[in-house]
Amino acid sequence: MKFKYYLVFALLLLAHVIAGVLYSGYAWWWILVTILVLLAVLVQGCRNIQWNFFLRSTNRVPLSLQQLKTGTKPVALTFDDGPHENTLKILDILKAEGIPATFFVIGKEIAGKESILQRIKDEGHLLGNHTYAHNAAFYWQSARLMVEDIEKCNKLIHAATGVNPNIFRPPFGVTNPNLAKALGQLGLQSVGWTLRSMDTIAKDPEALLNKILKNVRSNNTILLHDRCDITVSMLPELITRLREKGLSFGFPVVME
Ligand SMILES: [Zn+2]
Repeated sequence: MKFKYYLVFALLLLAHVIAGVLYSGYAWWWILVTILVLLAVLVQGCRNIQWNFFLRSTNRVPLSLQQLKTGTKPVALTFDDGPHENTLKILDILKAEGIPATFFVIGKEIAGKESILQRIKDEGHLLGNHTYAHNAAFYWQSARLMVEDIEKCNKLIHAATGVNPNIFRPPFGVTNPNLAKALGQLGLQSVGWTLRSMDTIAKDPEALLNKILKNVRSNNTILLHDRCDITVSMLPELITRLREKGLSFGFPVVME
């Protein structure tokens, strides 16, 4: 997306600096500095899904006509990296509270846990693809191999539930040109987030809860992980406190 414009800008800038070194007496190290700065921006573009650098992701809950009419303030709870035995505890909490959520599942975690996926579907939640392998090596592959990996996960979700997911969350929120190509071929919508809880490294449930509550805004998509014990333990309180803030619960994408 923005990457094309960036490439043009980067090449023009580099040409300008090289011309400056050759003809205007600039010091040669300006070329090195320019290349390093351009590379640093590129790395940040890969790391920050919110930049929409290589592809457009839905990072916040889209404003709907319904929301404008009723004045509701939705947030989307999204859980990555399942299915996991903790997913069942999360589902119990969501059921008791009567709220929907979205689960981005990893293909290789599905074997033996198909019934968890079925329950996610039966209880009205949304299922998304989070790759089959979920590793850093995923990003060093060609678009063709990425398509194979993502399709493998979608087939497993379909075999377990009959659902064909049309949403995808990039592992670690990383994007690159090959992923843009792969998602384009598969017709999958990338879903990012606006609030990263960092629950995978959090130690204190109270601190985690307060951090989310301090930063949350209407239409935020909140990134959580169902495999984390700390997330299970603070979820009921999080839901109560989000409700106290006047927030309601929905999906991170517009449902057809
Ligand atoms: Zn993940």
